[in-house]
Amino acid sequence: MYMYLLTLAMLCQASSVFSDTNYRLNTPIKPKAYSIAITPYFNTNDTNAFTFDGEVDITFTTEKETNLIKLHSQDLIFKDANIKILNGANSIPLSVSNPLEFDTNYTFAFINLQVDLQIGVEYSLKITYRGPIRADLNGFYRNYYIEKGVKKEIFYPTPIMSTYLVAFMVSEFEGIEHTNGTKEFGIFTRPEALNQTEYALDFGMKVVDALGAYFGIDYYSTDAHLKLDHIALPDFNAGAMENWGLIKYRESLLLYVPEDSTPYYKYRVAQIVAHETTHMWFGNLVTCHWWSNTWLNEGFANYFQDYITAFVDPDVASANVLVTGSVYAAYDADNTPTSSPITNENVNSPAEISGHFGTITYQKAGSVIRMMHHLIGDAGFRHGLNNYLQTNKFTSGYPDKLFKALDIGVQNTSSLAMYPNTDITEVMSSWISQAGHPILHVDINYETDNVLLTQKRFYTNSSYSSNETYNIPITYTTGVDPDFIITKPVMVMKNKTHEFSIPGIHEDRRWIVNDLFAFLFADEVSFTRLQRVLEFMSTETDYSVWYAAIRGLNKLWHTYLGSEALADIE
Ligand SMILES: [Zn+2]
Repeated sequence: MYMYLLTLAMLCQASSVFSDTNYRLNTPIKPKAYSIAITPYFNTNDTNAFTFDGEVDITFTTEKETNLIKLHSQDLIFKDANIKILNGANSIPLSVSNPLEFDTNYTFAFINLQVDLQIGVEYSLKITYRGPIRADLNGFYRNYYIEKGVKKEIFYPTPIMSTYLVAFMVSEFEGIEHTNGTKEFGIFTRPEALNQTEYALDFGMKVVDALGAYFGIDYYSTDAHLKLDHIALPDFNAGAMENWGLIKYRESLLLYVPEDSTPYYKYRVAQIVAHETTHMWFGNLVTCHWWSNTWLNEGFANYFQDYITAFVDPDVASANVLVTGSVYAAYDADNTPTSSPITNENVNSPAEISGHFGTITYQKAGSVIRMMHHLIGDAGFRHGLNNYLQTNKFTSGYPDKLFKALDIGVQNTSSLAMYPNTDITEVMSSWISQAGHPILHVDINYETDNVLLTQKRFYTNSSYSSNETYNIPITYTTGVDPDFIITKPVMVMKNKTHEFSIPGIHEDRRWIVNDLFAFLFADEVSFTRLQRVLEFMSTETDYSVWYAAIRGLNKLWHTYLGSEALADIE
């Protein structure tokens, strides 16, 4: 999902001391397939107006004998007479005294049976129900409509998927579509806006191919009937939502008019299409097991929204926009004692879940994934991601499963061989399970060439302190060979302190003083800054340093000779 930061900031305030774990179904019942038929009624001028009739047939088994079927049910109206449970032709009787109960707080329906369901038997649960067509952008909602009679549509069975990813839409939108063999791709919108869909079509097709190639799993290969439609909605709750095969967007985020829109809007379209398309793998093919680890969906979408965009359309974005777009925001959200870790075990209620869809889950997780990519290198990273997706497809993802897969990528490519005793699970866990991030102090002894690194958790308010230790990939460069391109770390720092030496390291005060004057004349540093740095000169005894200083001061004096500013400088 793609949400606005403003919304996120507000949601992040939702927190509670007590986290209620009762929202989860926690049932031995395993659904296998849902067959759903929905008949909507629009403005019928009777009690049917803006309601729908529904029929569901759920095929399921149970892992334990039980006489209770527990379901999530919100807004749906049904009675025990609307329920049928069958084992082949045999009907399973409901409890006589208490066949059906609802818990509106946790949005549960409880179906109580007279007898126990048996392990290894396939059952069918049929329910007929009614529900509202809402007007508030939730559930099955209406945006605007035109009455045009009734038409029946039948869809292919979907792959095995999480229920939150199901979407359907009743509309007369028009689309531009592209079919390559059996691969169907389309952009749909209000007919009037059809001429604004060209960029989304062009970029969207390239990005689904590029991601498929990168992850080693072609999008269309995961199910025989998969298509990929992006749809622009005039009214939508989030920025976009990654429903499998039918990705929904606020139309301002999908449509693009080259003559009227700025390049920034083009980048926004590319970024959000890349984000949602990444979810087809990270989120849909493998879904985080619970919202405490939402980062397994959103962190990857956040990372690839820029990484793959830079790859597909380098004119629109560079991979470094992740630094400006995510890393800085992550620091800001992560520098107080109440900042939550990326894996947050205190996420249970709907309010807590919404709250965890925030900067930590998106931007910080994306930034940590970027750091891991740089540490492991591209070959090992790709190998690991492919292994994670292949091993866990159509099931749930857990951090441990991801780390295990990344480790396979690491072993396969020997990509951590240069960092002794470095384990990718340990490195990742230190960033994922602990809140915060470190500040690194660097002390250099120029007599011995020794460098001492000390880490501590960073707080904006320096009166806080705590004892976290992070596994920090360290990259440095030296003046002798300044290299800001290769960011493969030189070492991984695992303890509070780390000592190493850089032979020949020395501070060159002559150069510092000389450069400072150059920067002053170029307006790169302020006069106050120059003054502050030059304070060390009161104890300086080296001729060459004094030479650089006097040379600079002379130039300054000549520049301002005859002006009123000279008095200040003197
Ligand atoms: Zn997302």
